[in-house]
Parts: sequence; structure tokens; C-alpha cells
Amino acid sequence: MDCIFCRIASGRAEAKVLYEDELAVAFEDIRPQAPVHVLVIPKKHIPNNLALTEEDAPLVGHLFLVANRIAKEKGIAERGFRLVTNCNSEAGQTVFHLHLHLLGGRLMHWPPG
Ligand code: AMP
Ligand code: ZN
Repeated sequence: MDCIFCRIASGRAEAKVLYEDELAVAFEDIRPQAPVHVLVIPKKHIPNNLALTEEDAPLVGHLFLVANRIAKEKGIAERGFRLVTNCNSEAGQTVFHLHLHLLGGRLMHWPPG
């Protein structure tokens, strides 16, 4: 299985990494949709949120905490930001390794497209 986000997580593919620990990596999205567009991923390969198991629950919490940290570092925590995860085709999921999109730095519209 060749997964681009597994390759980034293990340092085998290039990315602008902002944060890394034993469980997670955060890096700049290659096609940013907002002034801040960061992807937060687990190092563990999980195709999407539907594939989560009970044992992954603390890991998901950790991803949110990493996203909060990046939002604060980028100076958008107080202004506001959005965390999005796309699941399967109608949501537009293109990379089948779980990721949170951290989007901000501009007014985010609702409903989303
Ligand atoms: P999704 O459509 O939710 O699966 O999001 C996948 C995201 O990954 C898109 O926003 C892409 O721009 C981004 N992406 C794909 N390949 C890379 C890469 N090599 N480095 C950084 N971001 C990537
Ligand atoms: Zn993967």
C-alpha cells in the first residue's frame, strides 16, 4: 500500500511540517484553500473516520489538541477557524489517510460548499 500521508509521516516524502510527535504530524496543505490550511494526521494509517475503532478514541482527541496548538501558533485561535474531515466520495475525500483540515485566516462561509 502506497499512501502519501504515511510517506510524509515517516519522512519519506517532502512536506512543510509544522509539528510532529510520536502520534501525529501537522503540515501545510499543498493546495491551500485559505491563508491558513494545515493538515493534522495520525502517524497510524487509518483510511478515514469510519475506520476508527474504540482504541483510536484518545488518538482522535490528540489530533484536535494538535490542531488547537497550530491555530494558536498561527494566531487564528481567537478569530476563529474550522476543522474539517472529509469522509468518502460525496464529501470529496481524495487521500484515504485520516486528516483534519485546519482552515482559517479568512471569513469561513456557512453552509460549506
Ligand atoms: P481530502 O480531499 O479531504 O482527502 O484532502 C486531501 C488534501 O490533501 C487536499 O487538500 C490536498 O491538497 C492535500 N494534499 C494531497 N497531497 C498532499 C501532499 N503531498 N502534501 C500536502 N498536502 C497534500
Ligand atoms: Zn497512510
